[in-house]
Amino acid sequence: MPRLYDSRKRILVTGGAGFLGSHLIDRLLELGHEVLCTDNLFTGTKRNIDHLHNHSRFEFMRHDITFPLFVEVDEIYNLACPASPIHYQHDPVQTTKTSVHGAINMLGLAKRLRCRIFQASTSEVYGDPSVHPQTESYWGNVNPIGPRSCYDEGKRCAETLFFDYHRQHGLEVKVARIFNTYGPRMHPRDGRVVSNFIVQALKGEPITIYGDGSQTRSFCYVDDLVEGFVRLMDSPADFTGPVNLGNPTEFTIRELAEMVVKLVKSRSKLEFRPLPADDPKQRRPDITLAKTRLDWSPTVTLDKGLPTTIEYFKGLA
Ligand code: NAD
Ligand code: UDP
Ligand code: UDP
Repeated sequence: MPRLYDSRKRILVTGGAGFLGSHLIDRLLELGHEVLCTDNLFTGTKRNIDHLHNHSRFEFMRHDITFPLFVEVDEIYNLACPASPIHYQHDPVQTTKTSVHGAINMLGLAKRLRCRIFQASTSEVYGDPSVHPQTESYWGNVNPIGPRSCYDEGKRCAETLFFDYHRQHGLEVKVARIFNTYGPRMHPRDGRVVSNFIVQALKGEPITIYGDGSQTRSFCYVDDLVEGFVRLMDSPADFTGPVNLGNPTEFTIRELAEMVVKLVKSRSKLEFRPLPADDPKQRRPDITLAKTRLDWSPTVTLDKGLPTTIEYFKGLA
């Protein structure tokens, strides 16, 4: 339901030209808000927000959040950060700067404005978990010096900063730990498993399974996730998170490969490749907290979400 005019907010979405950010913006505009999108277009693209070009409540600003930002808004969603291993390992120092300096700048902005701020954290803060499924109380098993550390430790430090600004300055913070999410507008060359498998299946190329394909992940459809973001932002002030947002249904990577091949009706064969360093063996969110505090749980199953995603990739000539 669209909100009434008097509850309209001006909302900043950093990383808004990316996969998740652009879907969140669509939703916020649908709810009647004004949106200021900032992005340095490192992994995002204007194509994701092209349809908003003439929207009267939408504004785009090219900006890198590692630099200070002086704007006037009522709420901040901080999503800016490359999310796929290929992208975040391309310039690891910049990745850490985006998470850490970016968080400091956005928290400084929220502090000046006394406004709520949401952080897109990640299941990667759990590293290669020794507890399964992962609850928010688990502190994680993260390598501080490996190739994934710029992302994992950057996001962990960002969480620390969010909670220190909360404790020290009384900021209202909302921290979501996002698990693997997929859907239209994923980057076709980001190396993520869902986009890789769909692109390979559509081209009839071999489906590249890393390791023996027995490692597990749980895949959340983007619309479900965005619903969780909005509910978290609108939750009572005393609820800071961190809260897991993801789909708890677990699949092996091999099962995913077989499902994609079937849905695309592809002639692609499965091909096994070496497993990358520090690749987590198992990952599944415990979403009890999100269910209890946000009355949220995903509704789109993989067999429903994959076809829409496949159609999007078909459309990318
Ligand atoms: P994405 O790469 O599509 O979007 C990230 C956006 O941030 C891009 O548009 C990029 O250009 C922008 N960006 C990067 N560095 C920036 C900087 N310094 N200043 C301004 N903009 C910058 O990735 P996504 O999948 O949409 O992820 C969005 C957020 O959600 C990220 O913070 C990511 O860590 C988090 N997340 C995503 C997933 C997932 O499954 N997609 C899982 C866990 C966490
Ligand atoms: N900052 C910003 N926009 C603002 C206010 C602050 O980008 O509207 C940045 C500012 O440049 C600073 C950071 O946020 O580097 C942290 O601000 P804070 O006030 O917490 O710390 P301080 O300025 O005291 O170092
Ligand atoms: N993966 C794979 N083939 C690919 C891309 C990824 O088998 O072409 C595997 C990868 O090794 C990991 C899982 O799929 O075990 C999920 O990888 P992704 O990069 O999508 O996400 P993350 O590791 O961050 O969960």
